[in-house]
Amino acid sequence: MIKSRAIVLHRYAYSDSSWIVKALTEECGIVSFIVKGGKRKESPFKGALDPLALSEVVFRENPNAELLFVKEATLLDWHKDMRDDLLKTAKAQVMTEIVLRYAPAGVPLEGEFSLLENALAALDAPADSDSANPSTAKIPPSNVFAQWLLDICDLWGYTLDMHTCSRCGLPIEGAPADFHPETGAFVCKSCLGIETPRARKETLDGFYALRTGQGAIAHPEFTENALLAYLRNHIGFLREINSLKFLNEARKLFPAT
Ligand SMILES: [Zn+2]
Repeated sequence: MIKSRAIVLHRYAYSDSSWIVKALTEECGIVSFIVKGGKRKESPFKGALDPLALSEVVFRENPNAELLFVKEATLLDWHKDMRDDLLKTAKAQVMTEIVLRYAPAGVPLEGEFSLLENALAALDAPADSDSANPSTAKIPPSNVFAQWLLDICDLWGYTLDMHTCSRCGLPIEGAPADFHPETGAFVCKSCLGIETPRARKETLDGFYALRTGQGAIAHPEFTENALLAYLRNHIGFLREINSLKFLNEARKLFPAT
């Protein structure tokens, strides 16, 4: 028997009464559970197996089975404040979908678990609370998704060097003058010279905020999209990230938050 904290990445109907739940566990990486009777109102698991929930699950490991049975599931954090915010929920869904589709299978994923747990907690923090949780208080909610993308690139071996100009090799002072998502290259002001930068000012200001760890990004969608393009170039997204469509709709409804 294994007892592990888990973040629910995805859930879909298996029959009239059952769910299949894919969860990122702290101990065993991504695990697929079959939850018989999970759709019934009197299910003992209640919200513990809802997507984006942080829970403690007990299950029996079986390397020969693709689907495992959940013995117990206890909700630790449903992330209520995050769920009340459509844009934050959309960002959380993109993060969970990227982990589900692109994290390595069949291996423990402690780094991915830790990054996702912290990102969800930071998105869940009410706007006016800055001291409740010291580990997340430093990250403004608008920076969370971009910071997570930066950290996941790092974890998966595609580290971005935001400090160094790719052309002259010198440290970049202030905001970078350009960014190329195909290569992850940053360019300094003197190397850019009179060239027109390909990246928007909002994108570059966002990278500067991430590099210095100071201040909320005013228009995070530009930096988020630049990081998604960079990740896509490295991983080779053959399949579309479905939840990005929902995120783009949410961005139109709630610009600049
Ligand atoms: Zn340079």
